[in-house]
Amino acid sequence: MKNSEDLIENTDPSINSLKKLVDEADRIVIFTGAGISAESGIATYRGAGGLWTKYDPEKYASIEYFRKDPTYYWNFFKEERHAMMAQAEPSVTHRAVAELEKQGRVSAVITQNIDNLHIKAGSKRVLELHGNTTRFYCCDCRAQYGLDEVKRLADQEVPVYCQKCQGIVRPDVVLFGEMLPANVIDEALREAKICDLMIVIGSSLVVYPAANLPYEAKLSGARLVIINIDATPLDSVADLAIHSSAGEVFPQAVGYES
Ligand code: NAD
Ligand code: ZN
Repeated sequence: MKNSEDLIENTDPSINSLKKLVDEADRIVIFTGAGISAESGIATYRGAGGLWTKYDPEKYASIEYFRKDPTYYWNFFKEERHAMMAQAEPSVTHRAVAELEKQGRVSAVITQNIDNLHIKAGSKRVLELHGNTTRFYCCDCRAQYGLDEVKRLADQEVPVYCQKCQGIVRPDVVLFGEMLPANVIDEALREAKICDLMIVIGSSLVVYPAANLPYEAKLSGARLVIINIDATPLDSVADLAIHSSAGEVFPQAVGYES
């Protein structure tokens, strides 16, 4: 990695400012939202290119609705989600984050995403606040199922029933109406409090309690960078807010060459 004296010539000044902050940091935490995966072809809920689908997220992502009618989720899975998740590949930004971790600069990736792309890119310490939509488990006996296995079962019958106990199988995600996993949020909070630089990538920072984490990092003395196309409520407290696509900014600032 180049040092901060070695700024990139003819470059957007905000990229050089980010590069300087990264070079000065010892313990970086990356906090990501749906925007980092937009460049992998997965629609965000908010902002440019927001989610459009014939299935309603208020239904397929709600625990109340899942209890009432689990076939709705499973039809959505079968027709839309499986293909999207099976095909999506990490973006250059996911890969640059993984490379920075490999260099020992990143202590954790905290993500609101459920798409498995940080893990697919090679990140090792990924704190998934909202779970992972490529993993599944039985509501009754907790037996675990993988993405392709549930697709095979869903093609035969929906909803998907547990092969061991006939309970209903569900995605390992935090649905609307459910609590975040306490151990993950505790660990994320700990990382936020001890990092010296938090970089938010692609989050509208309006979904709580996740959006508290950048604020906690800042309160604990870390520097805060936000890279998001649209403005966020935390831009005014950030040391640097860059309103660009992640892929145009982050890889270059950390010296990642794909
Ligand atoms: P959000 O949908 O509320 O906001 C996404 C933000 O990303 C927007 O403000 C937009 O300006 C920005 N953005 C879009 N493309 C970008 C790009 N190329 N570079 C940088 N920024 C870009 O996302 P959120 O804050 O993560 O909250 C949404 C909730 O929905 C989360 O809880 C998340 O679990 C869930 N969700 C997840 C996925 C996923 O796993 N990929 C996708 C949609 C929603
Ligand atoms: Zn079971």
